[in-house]
Amino acid sequence: MQTMAMNTIEKAIYNRTELLLGEDVMEALAGTRVIIFGVGGVGSWCAEGLVRSGITKLTIVDSDRICITNVNRQLMATTKTVGQVKVDALKAHLLEINPKVEITAIQQIYCEETAGQFNLDEYDYVIDAVDSLKDKVHLILTATASKAKFFCSLGAALKVDPLKIKVAEFWNVRGCPLGAALRKKMKRAKTMPAKKFLCVYDDEVLPNRGHCQSCGTEKCMCPKAQDGPGNPDLLNHEWCSSKAQINGTTVHVTAIFGMTLSGLIIEDIYRRTLKAEVTADSSEGNSVGAERASDGLACESEEARATADVSEGSSAGAERASDGLACGSEEARATADVSEGNSAGSEGSSEISRVRDPWKTPEAG
Ligand SMILES: [Zn+2]
Repeated sequence: MQTMAMNTIEKAIYNRTELLLGEDVMEALAGTRVIIFGVGGVGSWCAEGLVRSGITKLTIVDSDRICITNVNRQLMATTKTVGQVKVDALKAHLLEINPKVEITAIQQIYCEETAGQFNLDEYDYVIDAVDSLKDKVHLILTATASKAKFFCSLGAALKVDPLKIKVAEFWNVRGCPLGAALRKKMKRAKTMPAKKFLCVYDDEVLPNRGHCQSCGTEKCMCPKAQDGPGNPDLLNHEWCSSKAQINGTTVHVTAIFGMTLSGLIIEDIYRRTLKAEVTADSSEGNSVGAERASDGLACESEEARATADVSEGSSAGAERASDGLACGSEEARATADVSEGNSAGSEGSSEISRVRDPWKTPEAG
């Protein structure tokens, strides 16, 4: 009886998502296993996006405890949770969204020494929201060699313009210092990722204009490490920040990074689930609708744009434009909307082809 009541509640929680995505996609979401490395300003919002969309098997990995300087951008960081283990505080929050989700909270650092503790083949998706360069390289190499699909967050600090956030394949990212540093480190070590993967990034780089208050100074209000909760082996590890360089952040940017990562997973599952139906039902032109699902998620497409299939783009655009005409029937407006829709559609479809097509060979960057 208890179970039945909970199933009813769960069904209601996800009703608006199911209304859009359909029952088959919701079932696929519920059966999907995701692991997120790093639940800071980006990873915590990714977890939020996933759980609110119907992902029910989620593993979150982070070694840190909540510092008061995290409150500006990390979902579970509030003045009430300072000092708590990040993954525990986030788990408690996610269970409030849906008490039935299976959240595995692991307070651990991801690095060369601990990597063996995680079997990435057990997951359908791996999310990298780690900010240490060395550990990130290791995770990228390990995750791309696994069976899981891999999405990566690049640097989200020093930015204020939400419209500069983009998605591109790792080797095509431009204007992101972290992306450049990762490529350089891999080329130098001659260790390349085993497969191509999409990154969320942003090419805006602003200077810090203020002063940094780091943990351990009398200005930081965090409780002392010795009194902290969680894994005793990690009490003195990065209590809040012992990083070489601390950069300023805004939550609207870090949260969009995280939500975009969650969106890449949701949309991938949606598209895969629909693809089977489209194949079985191709005469109705559903393929256009299925492709359209990727619009806007995969940005950055210089070459792909040039080789875009214009006729496919036009029909997708025309269909999309008609979506916006629900309350307008004047011929003039329809014409204007359709022509606008055309250009948007052709861009969208070229971006999709970028995602779908065999990835280009790595180039110097
Ligand atoms: Zn602190």
